[in-house]
Amino acid sequence: MNNPEISVIIPVYNEEESLPALFERLFPVLDGLKRPYEVIFVNDGSRDATLPLLLREQKRCSDRVKVVDFNGNFGQHMAIMAGFGCARGKMVITLDADLQNPPEEISRMVQCVDEGHDVVGTVRKVRRDSLFRKTASRLVNRLTNRITGLSLRDYGCMLRAYRRDIVDIINESAETTTFIPALAQKFAINPIEIDVAHSEREKGQSKYSLFRLIRLNFDLMTGFSLAPLQAVTMSGMLISLLSFLFAVFMFIRRLVVGPEAEGVFTLLAILFLLMGVTISCIGIQGEYVGRIYQEVRKRPRYVVRKVYGAWEERDGHA
Ligand code: UDP
Ligand code: MG
Repeated sequence: MNNPEISVIIPVYNEEESLPALFERLFPVLDGLKRPYEVIFVNDGSRDATLPLLLREQKRCSDRVKVVDFNGNFGQHMAIMAGFGCARGKMVITLDADLQNPPEEISRMVQCVDEGHDVVGTVRKVRRDSLFRKTASRLVNRLTNRITGLSLRDYGCMLRAYRRDIVDIINESAETTTFIPALAQKFAINPIEIDVAHSEREKGQSKYSLFRLIRLNFDLMTGFSLAPLQAVTMSGMLISLLSFLFAVFMFIRRLVVGPEAEGVFTLLAILFLLMGVTISCIGIQGEYVGRIYQEVRKRPRYVVRKVYGAWEERDGHA
């Protein structure tokens, strides 16, 4: 297919168990749209049978399936970035491979783009994840909106559609650490969010450990806001002011009551608290500095081992 209207990008990392069901459900939905489409699978350094499964599917529908094979694990957002780099559709849809986002929702998203929306976000109506993930993500969504000044109801749901002009802008922002839904939202003029169904992960496990989730959220915060740095400065100023007032009070007290040396443990507690605050503040600065360092080293953001697909490649290393 030479001029696909719709490109579907799917990042895949160790999803051998989910892939057969994905193929079975995705292709009928796309065929049903009756428009030329392409599907780009990005294999993000899987160590299981993911690649052979993808390649078999690519052979079967070689006119509309492309497989971009990374030479390591560069993360979901980089995988999507690589997909964006070679997508040719007038609209691009991203989807997880684990079928937690039902492919059946794609037609509604396409309809929204047709109606003139440049970014279509989705909100998981009834979320099928652990209570811990749900509560944490509710808090994080709220906090992130506060900090970044964006307004997304569900940052975590990667079933999204982007119009060509937005994809072009994202391709121009060659960031090493990023969070694609937030990036798109920043450039969108007429975004919309629709409610979609959400299923439990039936096969395999989530690829995000708690540690990885925290790191991803730091990418989001540092990538889209300087508010944490300003909060550090403000709290430093507040603590200094309070300490000054306290010192004046202690000085007067010393003149009135005389020297006192009790309450050592209270003092220790306050000291430890302030030490914790100080270390966290250095950490927050470090999060920014580390990302600046990554950015200035200018290493490739991801490395493509090979691209399997009939049509030519627009973007190899990036
Ligand atoms: N994924 C990826 N690289 C990674 C982690 C995840 O390409 O380093 C893919 C994964 O295969 C899936 C999607 O990103 O298609 C979302 O991952 P997952 O379902 O594990 O995340 P969760 O739904 O638990 O947030
Ligand atoms: Mg999932």
